[in-house]
Amino acid sequence: MSEVISVSHLSKSFGDHHVLRDIDFTVNKGEVVCIIGSSGSGKSTLLRCLNLLEQPSGGEIYYKGQSILQDKHNLQEYCTKMGMVFQQFNLFNNHNVLNNCLIGQTTVLKRSKEEATNVTMKYLDVVGMSQYINAKPSQLSGGQKQRVAIARALSMEPDVILFDEPTSALDPEMVGEVLKVMKDLAETGLTMLVVTHEMGFAREVADRVVFMDQGVIVEEGTPEEIFENPKEGRTKEFLKRV
Ligand code: ADP
Ligand code: MG
Repeated sequence: MSEVISVSHLSKSFGDHHVLRDIDFTVNKGEVVCIIGSSGSGKSTLLRCLNLLEQPSGGEIYYKGQSILQDKHNLQEYCTKMGMVFQQFNLFNNHNVLNNCLIGQTTVLKRSKEEATNVTMKYLDVVGMSQYINAKPSQLSGGQKQRVAIARALSMEPDVILFDEPTSALDPEMVGEVLKVMKDLAETGLTMLVVTHEMGFAREVADRVVFMDQGVIVEEGTPEEIFENPKEGRTKEFLKRV
């Protein structure tokens, strides 16, 4: 299996608050890794460190075996290869659906508008939103907004998409349509790192599940190992509560 991201001894502090401590894990090509854990355990901070929205305090990130934090010449390519989908969608509200998907491609990847439009139409079709290219985000439901955000991430053709609780801000009736899109993407072989409270999704779709608590990885394993036979007391406690 080829390694896409690997993290070694990663730590992050805000002042004297140690939010992440000695994090080690790997995401291989084509894998779906779900990160679960209570609120405040550092899941979002970990994703934000991986796409360098936060500067890690220590440790190293490797992208396809190359150091990112020490050897900074890989940084720019790395950032374009990490897609991100946020809980709150983070669409540009003053731009329509098409432009939301075009902006990163034309500015960062320097694609022509024509090429970027072709790529966008392909991915809007994948998420079932191609008939909404002229709509503004305010005209869409939460589930539709999140599907556009996923199409926008896909349009950059990243190596990995990081999802930070993509369904947590949705009304319950819209959760399913977003999980369905994510499940379909997983089946195409997209590499995905998903922070989620949707245990059904993690159980069904993840290749590996990582349980975090208080800034550390407590245990990781296959969905069967984590959900049917957790080894650590903290994992058992967490699973009882969800
Ligand atoms: P999770 O996503 O698992 O709910 P977070 O990564 O958002 O957890 O937060 C983990 C801890 O880090 C929390 O205690 C939070 O208050 C703290 N934290 C997150 N971001 C910041 C920040 N920018 N400044 C200070 N503390 C932060
Ligand atoms: Mg979070």
